[in-house]
Amino acid sequence: MLIIMQPQANENSIEKVIKFVEKQGFTAHISKGEIQTVIGCVGGKTIDKRNIELLDGVREVVKITTGYKLASRTFKPLDTVIEVKNAKFGGKYTGIIAGPCTIESEKQMEEAAEKLASIGVKTIRGGAFKPRTSPYSFQGMGEDGLKIIKKVADKYNLAVISEIMEISQIPLMLKYCDILQVGARNMQNFNLLKELGLINKPILIKRGLSATIEEWLMSAEYVLSGGNSQVMLCERGIRTFEPMTRNTLDLSAIPVVKKISHLPVLVDPSHATGLRDKVAPMSMAAVAAGCDGLEIEVHPHPECAICDGAQSLTPDDFCKLYGDIVKIADIVEKEVK
Ligand code: PEP
Ligand code: MN
Repeated sequence: MLIIMQPQANENSIEKVIKFVEKQGFTAHISKGEIQTVIGCVGGKTIDKRNIELLDGVREVVKITTGYKLASRTFKPLDTVIEVKNAKFGGKYTGIIAGPCTIESEKQMEEAAEKLASIGVKTIRGGAFKPRTSPYSFQGMGEDGLKIIKKVADKYNLAVISEIMEISQIPLMLKYCDILQVGARNMQNFNLLKELGLINKPILIKRGLSATIEEWLMSAEYVLSGGNSQVMLCERGIRTFEPMTRNTLDLSAIPVVKKISHLPVLVDPSHATGLRDKVAPMSMAAVAAGCDGLEIEVHPHPECAICDGAQSLTPDDFCKLYGDIVKIADIVEKEVK
């Protein structure tokens, strides 16, 4: 249920409405727009909405029938913009995240960070905990890797994003990362999502391998309903019958989600396609379709990469792509950050 306050409603009446609904067992989430405040109410018992509409300052009470409420545009009509260090995602911004699939050594990350920063990238990626299909594959450097990515990011003033796989890793991730990534395989790890709702850092939720858009938004809802409003979504390809690419990039998810949700929608063309030569065309298409950011795998020496070398761009390829992205972003009235 959403309580839409009158534009002139004062703090006192907003407070009174919140107290009223909390008494009925609801949790109130506040969205303060430039014009009016909307109070999203979740949980609680069935209530006659007229009792709320009679309260001072209330314009309208709307029942939301979709499962995702706080993620919906009805709750928050304006785009959510997430700012981390110099990076911005959402609204008029297209944020670029780039870096290797996995952190391998200080030398590799130093070289990557130096090149990416010189191109204009504001957020560096690198996995320290890797969700590998095979238990025999490299599983990531763990905390040693996080120390490396943070060190090079600080040197070049970059924000850090890395994947969290389980609740026990939260304190470590908070120490070294600016954005926590929930990977496709953990999109429906509901216990993890609940805990991420309690922290105060942006969360990037990648779309599950076979998740519908609604299921993906419900995962965002888990984090939002815990009180963490800094949620971003990332389309990374879904599993279809087509084997020519690693996954099938669902570009239409961008306009679909942006219409029904205020959350920033990013695209990962690297895991979507699995092939380096497909990354530039899909990145440009995603920007043209209005995405709020890209997450691209770039490795200083892809031929030597421990993980996902075939889908990683060289810094030179990425530099060319970055220039093209800036041009396309301009056409769709977005600024690359
Ligand atoms: C990643 O970004 O490192 C990754 C493993 O991606 P996904 O969860 O989308 O497969
Ligand atoms: Mn990868």
